[in-house]
Amino acid sequence: MVAAPTWVATSATAGLRHNADLPTTIEALAGPVDLTPPVALSAPAGSAIEHVSRSALRDSQGAPTSAATSTSEAVAAAECSGVVSGAMSNGRLTAANLCDLWQKPYKDRADAVVTAFAMNDAFTAKFGRPMCLTSGYRTYEEQAALRAAEPGIAAAAGTSNHGWGLAIDFCPNTYGGAAGVWLRVNGPKFGWDNPSWARPGGSGAFEPWHWEYVAGVKALAK
Ligand SMILES: [Zn+2]
Repeated sequence: MVAAPTWVATSATAGLRHNADLPTTIEALAGPVDLTPPVALSAPAGSAIEHVSRSALRDSQGAPTSAATSTSEAVAAAECSGVVSGAMSNGRLTAANLCDLWQKPYKDRADAVVTAFAMNDAFTAKFGRPMCLTSGYRTYEEQAALRAAEPGIAAAAGTSNHGWGLAIDFCPNTYGGAAGVWLRVNGPKFGWDNPSWARPGGSGAFEPWHWEYVAGVKALAK
């Protein structure tokens, strides 16, 4: 419904600007807060549902109540800088370079997370529920354990894009059916795609649930 790349490119900056203006808890409780996103990525049809689900998630995670009062995508950007820095090693990302996804306990690299939030907001507006996740960032040890348990499927530790915080695995109700059709059409608009190796006839295992933040993965190859 939107040309996401343009918005994505500015979201971190917009979020930071909003962050400086974030209301205190008292202000937030006292009345409406204007955290309208910079362009028309907000979705009137599903915004109420999105608000409820995200607020519930944030509350369960003990997030600041002031953040839970807004419905906009700007909140995600404000809570996660979207900026990564410093040397990185697969499966050894620092906390500063990771942000929470909307479903506990999953995290991913900060720049991937802000784009994933935008994608999830659009998905939620369409389907009335957030995207369901089964995996995000994995530490080196977690990937090694997975490899030991599923040697035919899981990548070796140190080689998975999950270790770079650039991959998400979705639940069947998100990558399949009508949701899956939507995801394949719209995911790339937000910078996410099911890599060619994971598709039918691809060079790797068929993994329709495995999606990657394309810009981040491309940068790794340089
Ligand atoms: Zn995966």
